[in-house]
Amino acid sequence: MSFDEFLLANEKEVRMTFFFGMLIFIGLWELLAPKRVLTISKSVRWINNLGLVFFNTFLLRVLFPAAAVGVAVFANEQDWGLFNYFDIPLWFAVVASVIIMDFVIYIQHVMVHAIPMLWRLHRVHHADMDYDVTTGSRFHPIEIILSMFIKFATILLLGPPIIGVIIFEIVLNATAMFNHGNISLPKTIDKYLRLLLVTPDMHRVHHSVEDDEANSNFGFSLPWWDRVFGTYRAQPRAGHIDMTIGINKFRDLKQVAWLPGMLMLPFVGKMSGYVINRRQWTDKENES
Ligand SMILES: [Zn+2]
Ligand SMILES: [Zn+2]
Repeated sequence: MSFDEFLLANEKEVRMTFFFGMLIFIGLWELLAPKRVLTISKSVRWINNLGLVFFNTFLLRVLFPAAAVGVAVFANEQDWGLFNYFDIPLWFAVVASVIIMDFVIYIQHVMVHAIPMLWRLHRVHHADMDYDVTTGSRFHPIEIILSMFIKFATILLLGPPIIGVIIFEIVLNATAMFNHGNISLPKTIDKYLRLLLVTPDMHRVHHSVEDDEANSNFGFSLPWWDRVFGTYRAQPRAGHIDMTIGINKFRDLKQVAWLPGMLMLPFVGKMSGYVINRRQWTDKENES
Protein backbone atom coordinates (compact mmCIF):
# COMPACT_ATOMS: atom_id res chain seq x y z
CA MET A 1 0.00 0.00 0.00
CA SER A 2 1.46 3.34 -1.03
CA PHE A 3 1.50 6.41 1.21
CA ASP A 4 -1.47 8.09 -0.48
CA GLU A 5 -3.47 4.84 -0.53
CA PHE A 6 -2.85 4.54 3.21
CA LEU A 7 -3.91 8.17 3.77
CA LEU A 8 -7.07 7.73 1.75
CA ALA A 9 -8.03 4.48 3.49
CA ASN A 10 -7.40 5.93 6.96
CA GLU A 11 -8.23 9.58 6.38
CA LYS A 12 -10.61 10.02 9.32
CA GLU A 13 -8.27 8.24 11.74
CA VAL A 14 -5.25 10.26 10.57
CA ARG A 15 -7.17 13.53 11.01
CA MET A 16 -8.41 12.50 14.46
CA THR A 17 -4.85 11.59 15.48
CA PHE A 18 -3.59 15.01 14.37
CA PHE A 19 -6.48 16.78 16.14
CA PHE A 20 -5.97 15.05 19.49
CA GLY A 21 -2.17 15.14 19.10
CA MET A 22 -2.21 18.93 18.61
CA LEU A 23 -4.81 19.39 21.37
CA ILE A 24 -2.59 17.55 23.86
CA PHE A 25 0.64 19.19 22.62
CA ILE A 26 -0.63 22.81 22.60
CA GLY A 27 -2.82 22.17 25.69
CA LEU A 28 0.25 21.07 27.68
CA TRP A 29 2.28 24.01 26.34
CA GLU A 30 -0.50 26.39 27.52
CA LEU A 31 -0.51 24.71 30.92
CA LEU A 32 3.25 24.94 31.39
CA ALA A 33 3.91 28.36 29.82
CA PRO A 34 0.69 30.33 29.26
CA LYS A 35 1.06 33.67 27.48
CA ARG A 36 -1.95 35.43 29.07
CA VAL A 37 -4.00 34.85 32.20
CA LEU A 38 -7.42 33.45 31.23
CA THR A 39 -10.56 35.43 32.14
CA ILE A 40 -12.82 32.36 32.02
CA SER A 41 -11.91 29.12 33.79
CA LYS A 42 -10.18 26.57 31.63
CA SER A 43 -12.74 23.86 32.43
CA VAL A 44 -15.68 26.04 31.29
CA ARG A 45 -13.75 26.98 28.13
CA TRP A 46 -12.76 23.45 27.23
CA ILE A 47 -16.15 21.88 27.95
CA ASN A 48 -18.10 24.45 25.91
CA ASN A 49 -15.66 25.17 23.08
CA LEU A 50 -14.86 21.50 22.56
CA GLY A 51 -18.55 20.67 22.99
CA LEU A 52 -19.19 22.89 19.98
CA VAL A 53 -16.35 21.22 18.04
CA PHE A 54 -17.75 17.73 18.69
CA PHE A 55 -21.26 18.89 17.80
CA ASN A 56 -19.95 20.32 14.50
CA THR A 57 -17.97 17.18 13.73
CA PHE A 58 -21.06 15.04 14.31
CA LEU A 59 -23.20 17.39 12.18
CA LEU A 60 -20.74 17.27 9.26
CA ARG A 61 -20.54 13.47 9.41
CA VAL A 62 -24.33 13.29 9.17
CA LEU A 63 -24.78 15.98 6.49
CA PHE A 64 -21.70 15.26 4.38
CA PRO A 65 -20.47 11.73 5.10
CA ALA A 66 -18.12 11.79 2.09
CA ALA A 67 -16.68 15.17 3.15
CA ALA A 68 -14.16 17.17 1.09
CA VAL A 69 -12.13 14.06 0.26
CA GLY A 70 -15.23 12.41 -1.21
CA VAL A 71 -15.78 15.44 -3.45
CA ALA A 72 -12.11 15.30 -4.54
CA VAL A 73 -12.50 11.59 -5.41
CA PHE A 74 -15.63 12.44 -7.44
CA ALA A 75 -13.89 15.34 -9.26
CA ASN A 76 -10.97 13.04 -10.13
CA GLU A 77 -13.21 10.24 -11.40
CA GLN A 78 -15.18 12.68 -13.57
CA ASP A 79 -12.05 14.56 -14.68
CA TRP A 80 -13.55 17.77 -13.39
CA GLY A 81 -11.54 20.82 -12.42
CA LEU A 82 -8.53 22.70 -13.69
CA PHE A 83 -5.82 20.25 -12.56
CA ASN A 84 -7.55 17.31 -14.23
CA TYR A 85 -7.27 19.05 -17.62
CA PHE A 86 -3.51 19.37 -17.61
CA ASP A 87 -0.73 16.85 -17.32
CA ILE A 88 1.20 18.38 -14.43
CA PRO A 89 3.51 16.63 -11.95
CA LEU A 90 1.70 15.34 -8.85
CA TRP A 91 3.99 17.14 -6.39
CA PHE A 92 3.31 20.45 -8.12
CA ALA A 93 -0.45 19.86 -8.14
CA VAL A 94 -0.36 18.97 -4.42
CA VAL A 95 1.63 22.06 -3.40
CA ALA A 96 -0.41 24.36 -5.65
CA SER A 97 -3.71 22.91 -4.36
CA VAL A 98 -2.76 23.46 -0.72
CA ILE A 99 -1.71 27.07 -1.46
CA ILE A 100 -4.80 27.86 -3.56
CA MET A 101 -7.22 26.32 -1.03
CA ASP A 102 -5.53 28.36 1.71
CA PHE A 103 -6.06 31.49 -0.39
CA VAL A 104 -9.77 30.66 -0.75
CA ILE A 105 -10.01 30.36 3.06
CA TYR A 106 -8.38 33.81 3.35
CA ILE A 107 -10.94 35.33 0.94
CA GLN A 108 -13.75 33.57 2.79
CA HIS A 109 -12.47 34.95 6.10
CA VAL A 110 -12.35 38.52 4.74
CA MET A 111 -15.88 37.99 3.41
CA VAL A 112 -17.36 36.80 6.72
CA HIS A 113 -16.02 39.97 8.33
CA ALA A 114 -17.29 42.27 5.56
CA ILE A 115 -20.83 40.96 5.04
CA PRO A 116 -23.01 41.80 8.07
CA MET A 117 -25.16 38.64 7.90
CA LEU A 118 -22.06 36.43 7.75
CA TRP A 119 -20.34 38.42 10.50
CA ARG A 120 -23.23 37.38 12.76
CA LEU A 121 -22.11 33.77 12.32
CA HIS A 122 -18.40 34.49 12.52
CA ARG A 123 -18.75 36.50 15.73
CA VAL A 124 -19.10 33.19 17.58
CA HIS A 125 -15.39 32.65 16.84
CA HIS A 126 -14.52 36.21 17.92
CA ALA A 127 -16.76 36.48 21.00
CA ASP A 128 -14.41 34.18 22.93
CA MET A 129 -12.98 36.43 25.64
CA ASP A 130 -9.83 34.35 25.81
CA TYR A 131 -7.60 32.93 23.16
CA ASP A 132 -6.44 29.34 23.37
CA VAL A 133 -6.18 26.09 21.42
CA THR A 134 -9.94 25.51 21.73
CA THR A 135 -10.74 28.93 20.16
CA GLY A 136 -9.16 27.64 16.94
CA SER A 137 -12.02 25.26 16.15
CA ARG A 138 -14.85 27.26 17.73
CA PHE A 139 -17.22 28.15 14.88
CA HIS A 140 -21.00 28.35 14.58
CA PRO A 141 -22.43 25.21 12.84
CA ILE A 142 -23.94 27.34 10.04
CA GLU A 143 -20.53 28.90 9.33
CA ILE A 144 -19.03 25.39 9.28
CA ILE A 145 -21.65 24.24 6.74
CA LEU A 146 -21.08 27.37 4.63
CA SER A 147 -17.30 26.73 4.68
CA MET A 148 -17.96 23.17 3.57
CA PHE A 149 -19.94 24.35 0.51
CA ILE A 150 -17.19 26.83 -0.41
CA LYS A 151 -14.63 24.03 -0.06
CA PHE A 152 -16.71 21.67 -2.24
CA ALA A 153 -17.06 24.34 -4.95
CA THR A 154 -13.31 25.04 -4.84
CA ILE A 155 -12.50 21.33 -5.21
CA LEU A 156 -14.91 20.91 -8.14
CA LEU A 157 -13.38 23.89 -9.96
CA LEU A 158 -9.78 23.09 -9.09
CA GLY A 159 -9.75 19.28 -9.34
CA PRO A 160 -6.92 18.93 -6.79
CA PRO A 161 -5.18 15.58 -6.17
CA ILE A 162 -6.98 13.70 -3.36
CA ILE A 163 -3.81 13.63 -1.31
CA GLY A 164 -3.61 17.44 -1.68
CA VAL A 165 -7.05 17.80 -0.09
CA ILE A 166 -6.15 15.48 2.80
CA ILE A 167 -2.87 17.33 3.41
CA PHE A 168 -4.69 20.67 3.26
CA GLU A 169 -7.31 19.58 5.81
CA ILE A 170 -4.64 18.32 8.21
CA VAL A 171 -2.40 21.38 7.76
CA LEU A 172 -5.28 23.86 8.18
CA ASN A 173 -6.54 22.13 11.31
CA ALA A 174 -3.08 21.74 12.88
CA THR A 175 -2.00 25.33 12.14
CA ALA A 176 -5.32 26.75 13.42
CA MET A 177 -4.76 24.93 16.72
CA PHE A 178 -1.13 26.06 16.87
CA ASN A 179 -1.76 29.73 16.07
CA HIS A 180 -4.71 30.05 18.48
CA GLY A 181 -2.49 28.75 21.29
CA ASN A 182 -2.19 30.81 24.47
CA ILE A 183 1.54 30.47 23.99
CA SER A 184 4.42 32.51 22.72
CA LEU A 185 7.53 31.81 20.79
CA PRO A 186 10.85 33.57 21.34
CA LYS A 187 10.74 36.90 19.44
CA THR A 188 13.38 35.96 16.88
CA ILE A 189 11.74 32.61 16.08
CA ASP A 190 8.34 34.32 15.75
CA LYS A 191 9.84 36.95 13.43
CA TYR A 192 11.18 34.36 10.97
CA LEU A 193 8.45 31.74 11.37
CA ARG A 194 5.73 34.27 10.48
CA LEU A 195 7.27 34.60 7.03
CA LEU A 196 6.12 31.01 6.41
CA LEU A 197 3.31 30.32 8.85
CA VAL A 198 0.75 32.32 10.84
CA THR A 199 2.11 32.38 14.42
CA PRO A 200 0.10 32.75 17.68
CA ASP A 201 1.25 36.39 18.08
CA MET A 202 0.24 37.18 14.50
CA HIS A 203 -3.29 35.75 14.70
CA ARG A 204 -3.94 37.04 18.24
CA VAL A 205 -4.03 40.57 16.78
CA HIS A 206 -7.09 39.44 14.77
CA HIS A 207 -8.97 38.60 18.00
CA SER A 208 -8.63 42.13 19.43
CA VAL A 209 -11.77 44.09 20.39
CA GLU A 210 -10.31 46.99 18.36
CA ASP A 211 -12.03 47.10 14.99
CA ASP A 212 -8.96 47.92 12.89
CA GLU A 213 -7.00 45.13 14.56
CA ALA A 214 -9.81 42.59 14.15
CA ASN A 215 -9.88 43.51 10.47
CA SER A 216 -6.30 42.44 9.93
CA ASN A 217 -4.35 39.15 9.82
CA PHE A 218 -7.10 37.06 8.23
CA GLY A 219 -4.73 34.24 7.22
CA PHE A 220 -5.19 30.84 8.90
CA SER A 221 -2.14 28.90 7.72
CA LEU A 222 -0.11 30.97 5.26
CA PRO A 223 0.76 34.56 6.22
CA TRP A 224 1.45 35.78 2.69
CA TRP A 225 -2.08 36.84 1.69
CA ASP A 226 -2.25 39.44 4.45
CA ARG A 227 1.04 40.92 3.30
CA VAL A 228 0.07 40.87 -0.38
CA PHE A 229 -3.40 42.38 0.13
CA GLY A 230 -2.47 44.93 2.80
CA THR A 231 -4.27 43.36 5.76
CA TYR A 232 -1.11 42.56 7.70
CA ARG A 233 -0.57 44.08 11.16
CA ALA A 234 2.53 43.08 13.08
CA GLN A 235 1.45 43.65 16.72
CA PRO A 236 -1.54 44.89 18.75
CA ARG A 237 -1.30 48.51 19.96
CA ALA A 238 -1.85 47.58 23.61
CA GLY A 239 0.63 44.71 23.50
CA HIS A 240 -0.18 41.01 23.69
CA ILE A 241 -0.66 40.93 27.47
CA ASP A 242 -2.77 44.08 27.85
CA MET A 243 -4.88 43.86 24.69
CA THR A 244 -8.56 42.94 25.16
CA ILE A 245 -9.74 39.81 23.36
CA GLY A 246 -13.30 39.37 22.09
CA ILE A 247 -16.12 41.70 21.01
CA ASN A 248 -16.93 44.80 23.08
CA LYS A 249 -20.68 44.38 22.74
CA PHE A 250 -20.70 40.75 23.89
CA ARG A 251 -19.18 40.26 27.35
CA ASP A 252 -21.95 38.22 29.02
CA LEU A 253 -20.58 34.78 29.89
CA LYS A 254 -23.92 33.12 29.15
CA GLN A 255 -23.62 34.38 25.56
CA VAL A 256 -19.93 33.98 24.91
CA ALA A 257 -18.76 31.09 27.07
CA TRP A 258 -21.68 28.65 27.31
CA LEU A 259 -22.70 26.51 24.36
CA PRO A 260 -26.45 27.42 24.17
CA GLY A 261 -25.56 31.14 24.17
CA MET A 262 -22.91 30.63 21.49
CA LEU A 263 -25.39 28.80 19.25
CA MET A 264 -27.87 31.70 19.64
CA LEU A 265 -25.31 34.49 19.24
CA PRO A 266 -25.88 35.02 15.47
CA PHE A 267 -29.55 35.72 16.15
CA VAL A 268 -29.02 38.35 18.84
CA GLY A 269 -29.97 41.88 17.81
CA LYS A 270 -32.17 43.25 15.07
CA MET A 271 -32.38 40.91 12.08
CA SER A 272 -34.28 43.08 9.60
CA GLY A 273 -33.03 45.86 7.34
CA TYR A 274 -29.93 44.18 6.06
CA VAL A 275 -28.99 46.83 3.58
CA ILE A 276 -25.32 47.60 3.51
CA ASN A 277 -25.45 51.26 4.31
CA ARG A 278 -23.49 53.68 6.37
CA ARG A 279 -25.40 52.96 9.57
CA GLN A 280 -24.95 49.19 9.23
CA TRP A 281 -21.22 49.59 9.01
CA THR A 282 -21.16 51.92 11.99
CA ASP A 283 -23.13 49.32 13.99
CA LYS A 284 -20.62 46.66 13.05
CA GLU A 285 -17.70 48.87 13.95
CA ASN A 286 -19.13 49.51 17.39
CA GLU A 287 -19.72 45.84 17.91
CA SER A 288 -16.32 44.39 17.05
ZN1 LIG B 1 -12.18 36.47 11.95
ZN1 LIG C 1 -9.17 33.01 15.03
